[in-house]
Amino acid sequence: MSFRKTGVITVEELKKLGLLPSEERLGKAPVAVLECPEDIPCNVCVTACPFKAIVKDTLYSRPRLDESKCIGCGVCVAKCPGQAIFVVDLRGGEALITLPYEMNPPPSKGARVQLLDREGRVVGEGEVVKAWSYDSTWAVTVRAPREMWLHVRAVRVVGRSD
Ligand code: SF4
Ligand code: SF4
Repeated sequence: MSFRKTGVITVEELKKLGLLPSEERLGKAPVAVLECPEDIPCNVCVTACPFKAIVKDTLYSRPRLDESKCIGCGVCVAKCPGQAIFVVDLRGGEALITLPYEMNPPPSKGARVQLLDREGRVVGEGEVVKAWSYDSTWAVTVRAPREMWLHVRAVRVVGRSD
């Protein structure tokens, strides 16, 4: 797996490891994507999820999502110390992607952003739908082209849309 050398997981690796939600689930409601491939001693996401939708067999094993329990609330996005969790909503014609956001202050609704991939490369432009915090950690939901849901994992604010 190349992510062990590069530190950046690829879409192919996410698929191979079974870390992506099913196509059926993606079209129904917002759902978390757990991009946490390493067996590490962390269970913040497990304890943070109010719906017990994230499970680990042991403290060291990889977290798994119970799609039937996840409601896409995004609490785990803000709580994950590894910034490895995202929420994707594909119910409309476009993608709503909820991401961790480390900067302060966060962008306001309507702000225009550059959409960045896992390596920080610009892959498009989007718009902030909302910014919110949980336990003092920010998360941002952005509107992006639907086909970008697997690629957009960070944003850079470029200005207001009005
Ligand atoms: S999005 Fe909400 S319901 Fe889904 S796994 Fe995260 S905390 Fe749990
Ligand atoms: S909180 Fe984040 S880093 Fe920790 S196990 Fe869960 S997904 Fe991985």
